[in-house]
This record gives sequence, C-alpha cells and structure tokens, in this order.
Amino acid sequence: MNSREIPERYSRQVRFPGIGQDGQRRLLDSKVTLVGCGALGTVLANALVRAGVGYLRLIDRDFIETNNLQRQILFDEADIAANLPKAEAAARKLRVVNSGVMVEPIVTDVDRTNILDLVGDADVILDGSDNFEVRYVINDAAVKLGKPWVYGGCIGSHGQTMTILPGETPCLRCVFEAAPAPGEAGTCETAGVLGPIVNIVASYQAAEAFKILAGHRDAVNRDLVYIDVWENVNRRIKIANLKGKVDCPCCGRGKFEWLEGEHGAQTTSLCGRNAVQVSHRVAGKLDFEAMARELSSLGKVSFNKFLLKFDVDDFQFTVFPDGRAIIKGTNDADKAKTLYAKYVGH
Ligand SMILES: [Zn+2]
Repeated sequence: MNSREIPERYSRQVRFPGIGQDGQRRLLDSKVTLVGCGALGTVLANALVRAGVGYLRLIDRDFIETNNLQRQILFDEADIAANLPKAEAAARKLRVVNSGVMVEPIVTDVDRTNILDLVGDADVILDGSDNFEVRYVINDAAVKLGKPWVYGGCIGSHGQTMTILPGETPCLRCVFEAAPAPGEAGTCETAGVLGPIVNIVASYQAAEAFKILAGHRDAVNRDLVYIDVWENVNRRIKIANLKGKVDCPCCGRGKFEWLEGEHGAQTTSLCGRNAVQVSHRVAGKLDFEAMARELSSLGKVSFNKFLLKFDVDDFQFTVFPDGRAIIKGTNDADKAKTLYAKYVGH
C-alpha cells in the first residue's frame, strides 16, 4: 500500500474506522462508472466526488428540463438556459466541488454496443438510470466482467436498492427475472417522485460504493432494501439464498441475453414523456452549423457544441452530435422515425 499524503479535506472520513487511511487511499485510486445523471445520478456523483474517488465517468443521454430541478441536485436554471446536456452540466459543477477528482462526462445512450467499453476499467458500476433495459445490460456486463455494481430505483415516495457482487451474491436477474411490462410499473411522469426518497436510495448506493472501493466487502448490504418515506415502510428482503437456487440465465448459466441480443430498437419511447428517442449513430459528428442554416426557414433553431434544438409544428427536436435525437410531441415510434428522416435526414 502506498503511503502518500492524504489531503486534509478528507480528514473526517479518514477518522471513521471503516475508511481509515488505507481505505481513503484506495478511494483516491479508484475508478467509477456512473450510468445516468438524473435524480439518483446527481446525488451519487456529488457523494463520490466529495468523498474523493479518483476518477468518475459520468454517462447520460439527456438534456436538462425545468421539472428536473426539484430533485436533480447538481443542476440550476442557468444550465437550462445554456442548453447543457446533463453529463456536461454535472461535470462542470463537480470540478468546482473537488478539482482533485477526474470527471469524464459522456453524452450517450448506454446500450449493449458500448457498455463493455464504458465499464471495462471501472472498480464499481453505479446505477443512476431510470429503466430496466439499461439495468439488465449493466447486470450482464458486470457479471461477465466480474465487477460489482449497485442497483437503485425510485418512484413516487418509495425506492429500493441492492448490491451485486458477481460470484458472491445473487444478480439482478436472480431477483427480478424480467422487466416489468410497459405500463405496469409507474414512471416518474405518471406517479411523480419525491426528492427525499431519491436522496435516501442514492445515499445507500453511495455508501455501498465506499465499502467496496475501500476494501470492505464484508460490510456490503446483502439484502434488497425497500423504503417508503410516505407510508413509513422500511423493509429488508432476504435475497442472499437465491444465489445458485434460481435458474438464472445470467449468473447461473453464463448466458448474457441483454449483451448478445439483437440490436435494440432504433427508437425508444421515453417513459411517459410524450417523447421518443431515435438512435441513429453517424460516422463522425453532425455539422450543427449547416443543419441550422437549413432548418431555420422551417422553425426555430438554436445550438451549441453539445446539442441542437429545433421546434417545428408541435414537435421539439433535441439532436446530439452523434446523430441521436429526442423528439418531443409524440409517443409513436414510426411517427418519430418519419420526423427524423424529414428534418435530420439520413
Ligand atoms: Zn443471477
């Protein structure tokens, strides 16, 4: 173990015996990939950067909207005015909080084609996402690579979390065999979500990350923790004995269906937002200046180096340099593809 000086800013954490000097050095040398930088993600990123992880890769596909500010603690009105993607806005805040941490913002949609690259060098993977498809992709990648990851999810006034140590504890698919059917589980848009439950679940997740990174796997939570701040429920569901008992395709049979499956849909309906994401990766980057010239006669256009916004009829386009677009004003995938072809092209 190296004996380098630990900055005074971490003194209160070092004094805590579970971390100590050794644990803090491990934290300082650690790499974390955080998938999603919304409600859970901003709380997680804030905790990790203040605690002094060495390197934080922050991935999010979205831009910031006014209704995010109630719970997404790293964003403010100026970020919305500047049209910043979430990952970029969060990275700017975090660098001011702790310049000693390397923060790498990545604006992209995490899927089976890029997950292995995004988590390959991480010591722990954290789930700040808002949907089960991404979580199954993370779970497959984590089990395949033998990397610990921490699941978290919130809706309304309740949330839950569990920690997956591949080979040691049940994986996400051992516990949740399949994703809830569309419409079965509520979404933030239909059921709403309270800021406090987000902070609680993300704080549990962050503490789990500290334990793993500081070398205290023995302290890791082995249950599924469920909390409802409105109904006053605090429950621990024993899941440890599922390991090896259920016929899990992922950690049991080593069949990574979410990594190996057919390429996911080109379009994704964004949970109840009346918006569709059209994934259409282009070689190189889109030329926003040229696009803006073309589109300006058809509707309202603005752009910066991160995204281009275009309003036409009742639709709002947000286009990213890699060719991906979020089209607001429809839930219809075919309609969204048609609109994309009409205005973005390809
Ligand atoms: Zn499993």
